[in-house]
Amino acid sequence: MLISKLARSLGIVRKTALDAAIAEQEALKAELAAAELKAAGFDPEKLTSLEAAFKADIASGNMEFRQFDNAKDFADYILNQRTIPLRLERSLSYSVVQNAPHSEKLIGYCDACEQVQPLLIDLQWGDGTEVSFRERAVCGKCGLNTRQRFIMAYIRHACIAHTGIRIYAQEQVTDLFKALNKDYPDTIGSEYLGPDIKPGAVVDGIRHEDCLALSFEDASFDIVISNDVLEHVADLQAALAELFRVLAPGGRLIFTVPFHYDTEKTVRRAGIENGALTHYLSPEYHGNPVADEGSLVFYDIGADIFDYLHEAGFSKVQIVCADSLVRGYYGAPSLFVAVK
Ligand SMILES: [Zn+2]
Repeated sequence: MLISKLARSLGIVRKTALDAAIAEQEALKAELAAAELKAAGFDPEKLTSLEAAFKADIASGNMEFRQFDNAKDFADYILNQRTIPLRLERSLSYSVVQNAPHSEKLIGYCDACEQVQPLLIDLQWGDGTEVSFRERAVCGKCGLNTRQRFIMAYIRHACIAHTGIRIYAQEQVTDLFKALNKDYPDTIGSEYLGPDIKPGAVVDGIRHEDCLALSFEDASFDIVISNDVLEHVADLQAALAELFRVLAPGGRLIFTVPFHYDTEKTVRRAGIENGALTHYLSPEYHGNPVADEGSLVFYDIGADIFDYLHEAGFSKVQIVCADSLVRGYYGAPSLFVAVK
């Protein structure tokens, strides 16, 4: 009820389907707080009227993609203008921390499933004191987290200009690839399987590609999707040059990275010097679905990523962000779009 209360006290929001959905979400959460939640999860019957409210809200065009041409405007939005108050996210986090290790379920309209689904939040991928909303709010049906659901939404709503679209995703063993492949069966996916494998080779059904030496011809794709990959490449400029090369003119690179928007310069944490891995800062690793040890972070990507992309040749670069309680976009997920 926090948002509606806050908004009404400011007199700025009419009673909308969103308001009703939030009220119903609160009521449902209270109801589900009973033991039955732990036993069996959600009863789809209970979601019917809520789904209608969600659909009405979505039909009204409530969610827009907010687009920013530079890191400064994006930072201003994140810090000062978000529609989901940080207070709400903090209170959700607080409740998760109190009930840990049990997870909690929010509800939202999953843009990948195109249905209302439970969205699971817990303390995974966070620092243990709060929920990482970007990495959680995982759909109970398709398994996509906030940023992955947002990528599907962006591709569905903003990118589809023609059939036969050629898509390359720098991932293949993930739920996001599965979702992409369902909509666009010709999507090519790949993983990085190690230094001794030839780019383009397929090992046990998984295609291997090296970000610094892709096996594709020039201008092969209309869309290239790269999620949380670029911070792990040994040479950011070389990787961007490769992505630019394989895109057709007018094609779009859609990518996510952990974005340090409040840091002006990208920081190089590690590099390869004379063939040897060299650490400039203490090593940091992120999860990798095809490597138990995780992936080393080579770069903390800062505001100058816009410059890196323009230098690689991209003509237009934007960061796109969504903030939507209805769709469960907590934590203001964002992605970059760079047009060749
Ligand atoms: Zn889903």
